[in-house]
Amino acid sequence: MPKKLAILGSTGSIGTQTLDVVASHPDEFEVVALAAGANLTRLFEQIERFRPALVSVATPELAAKVKERFGKAVQVEAGQAGLQAVATCPEADIVLTAVVGTMGLRPTLEAIAAGKDIALANKETLVAAGHLVTDLAARRGCRILPVDSEHSAIFQCVHGEQTKEVRRILLTASGGAFRDKKREEMARATREDALAHPNWSMGAKITVDSATLMNKGLEVIEAHWLFGLPYERIEVLIHPQSIVHSLVEFQDRSVLAQLGTPDMRVPIQYALSYPRRLAADWPSLDLLAVGTLTFREPDWDRFPILGLAYQAGKTGGSMPAVLNAANEAAVDLFLQEKIGFLEIEKTLLGVIEQHDPVGNPSLDEILFYDRWAREMARRLALR
Ligand code: NDP
Ligand code: MG
Repeated sequence: MPKKLAILGSTGSIGTQTLDVVASHPDEFEVVALAAGANLTRLFEQIERFRPALVSVATPELAAKVKERFGKAVQVEAGQAGLQAVATCPEADIVLTAVVGTMGLRPTLEAIAAGKDIALANKETLVAAGHLVTDLAARRGCRILPVDSEHSAIFQCVHGEQTKEVRRILLTASGGAFRDKKREEMARATREDALAHPNWSMGAKITVDSATLMNKGLEVIEAHWLFGLPYERIEVLIHPQSIVHSLVEFQDRSVLAQLGTPDMRVPIQYALSYPRRLAADWPSLDLLAVGTLTFREPDWDRFPILGLAYQAGKTGGSMPAVLNAANEAAVDLFLQEKIGFLEIEKTLLGVIEQHDPVGNPSLDEILFYDRWAREMARRLALR
């Protein structure tokens, strides 16, 4: 029997690559539900190709257009209720979460409550509410399978090992578009400069996050929740080639790493097929062609947001949710060319300073502070 899959964010970078994986393994996977935002052209192609029983789009107006095109062949829902319908679709065995930002939080919790395994790309959900997501998954006996390449690497390295025998995690980072740029150059950087990622082709928000190193900061917090390690034992290494996707050191000082060409289909496929490994038709890693693998320490002065993320993670409570929401708002303003690149970090610092964190926040509290942080970020950034 094929594994039945629901996808949140099917028209995005991760969503489309997930459907590539599904298309190359028709006997293994079947698509039962898709949630998209507003890209109807791509969604229509996906409906024709994969024939899901249920789809959801961002608004009722868009939903009307899908109904006009497909009639009764597919059930169409919209908005937050639509995301929930896809996330909890009774036929689905596993839900792949690839929407951007805290928009994914509620549907992810609903999917877990409905007993679904989660293939998690939407890291912001774990950053904002790691305690709620991991608690609920443990109680419901659901797996959280990482799609993020670094976390997939760690997940593969610790497979069959004991958590207490892990000494530290070494998360690798490409360094993003401004890896070798001076602060003066970053101050002048345009939207296009920030979107020119050296190794990976991804959605706009995560590409900007890679340029500020916020992406690595979010991933440190994501790793904390996925693997249950304190922040002192999660380290970041700049590795410009993006071949070693992360490493784990054990108590005996033995270090395991997972390597591969930078291709998100590998971690996506592993999250879907776990614990099995399926054949792939993409090229093998050619280490002779790569030649050299290099590693260096992140530059904390040029990229202060990475330190900020560690600090927010260690503070815990509502602080990571606030940092994450402020970042979503600031990156959005940067992408709209309303603020400069270095204004992103200034905004985050300002918002964090204003926030008095609460411990063990409920979902409502997280969503409240998320809204507060977005408003505060916009106010500080645009004043
Ligand atoms: P994209 O921006 O490419 O895709 C976002 C998806 O969310 C699109 O399908 C978009 O739909 C959908 N969406 C937007 N608004 C809504 C809405 N209101 N309701 C439902 N769906 C909506 O993002 P990525 O694929 O790059 O990233 C997705 C997540 O995966 C992020 O959390 C990111 O951090 C994480 N990730 C991504 C990686 C990558 O390689 N891209 C690597 C590791 C993690 P539409 O386009 O139709 O409007
Ligand atoms: Mg990553």
